[in-house]
Amino acid sequence: AKKVTTLPKARYGGRHAVTMLPGGGIGPELMSYVKEVFKYGGVPVDFETVQIHPTSDSNEDLEYAITSIRRNGVGIKGNIETKSLDTSVISRNVAIRNQLDLFVNVVHCKSYAGVAGQHQNVDIVIVRQNTEGEYAMLEHESPPGVVESMKVITAQNSERVARYAFEFARKNNRKKVTTVHKANIMKLSDGLYLETARNVAKEYPEIQHNDMIIDNCCMQLVSNPHQFDVMSMPNLYGSIVSNVICGLIGGAGLLSGRNFGDYYAVFEPGTRNTGTAIAGKNIANPIAMLNASVDMLEYLNLKPYANTIKLAVEKTINEDLIHTPDLKGNASSLDVVQNIIRHVQTLSVKW
Ligand code: ADP
Ligand code: MG
Repeated sequence: AKKVTTLPKARYGGRHAVTMLPGGGIGPELMSYVKEVFKYGGVPVDFETVQIHPTSDSNEDLEYAITSIRRNGVGIKGNIETKSLDTSVISRNVAIRNQLDLFVNVVHCKSYAGVAGQHQNVDIVIVRQNTEGEYAMLEHESPPGVVESMKVITAQNSERVARYAFEFARKNNRKKVTTVHKANIMKLSDGLYLETARNVAKEYPEIQHNDMIIDNCCMQLVSNPHQFDVMSMPNLYGSIVSNVICGLIGGAGLLSGRNFGDYYAVFEPGTRNTGTAIAGKNIANPIAMLNASVDMLEYLNLKPYANTIKLAVEKTINEDLIHTPDLKGNASSLDVVQNIIRHVQTLSVKW
């Protein structure tokens, strides 16, 4: 978990180069807001934008995007659609994570005081395995009517994710890690995940470790999310649990997700939605992608810029209460963005 912050990132003339993959649906409009806010904040980042066509059978765009992230070290992305009818064309989102070995996904689920979710004061960090498990995409149908789908759990990746969770807890003064699983049924696969986590936990005696079966975990989350601190889990459970928690504290438009490997980092909205139905209507919540851009700036060590945008976002949501319809407000996407820019301009003067 450590290597990632010490590696050099592409930097030319004091400016950072970052790969931008807008994706489909609301992705392009959200990216335009990020660029607009960066412009007013004077953020020294240049984007290399790569479009991946949703219906293309060729992997040319995808390969170019991956090469670009390898070169720059850092990417920011929307959700990329894969609409090819050819079943051999796999999800581009999955392909990017797998080829760059982005083995862990981190979603910090923190409530905003100005957003009335089902629960207030939630502060949970989800650490999710990001490249294997149920997303191995090893499926076949033979004989007809019988489909088998393989779930892959490896000791190496289970250990990397568990270690990431405990290291994160240690560095961020968190008290507890909960490993989520279904080892009572999937005794070998989830059993390995759980056993690995328990072994890693022994190296972190100051951090409490417990485990919870995924179904009980979902019930506990909706009834008492405050019992959770850091949570670690295999891929599919992570997808579901992060959507559950995001739903509890304000929906798909707020939170960001960070994808890390040993060498690369990719930032995106936490629930990875395309938002096709709301695209082009000036109603998508810009916050999730702006939070992704803040995560990216923190990763690039551009802390003052990250803090400025973060504060401008918080003021807009918590004090000015300028909210898009997903938060039951009636502001447009641009109303929110313009208000954030106004704060960024005021805050930027100080440095
Ligand atoms: P998927 O990509 O999984 O199909 P959707 O695009 O359907 O998911 O998004 C799920 C829900 O979340 C939809 O109701 C969508 O409108 C909403 N949503 C996702 N992102 C945003 C956003 N940035 N602002 C507002 N609503 C959003
Ligand atoms: Mg959809």
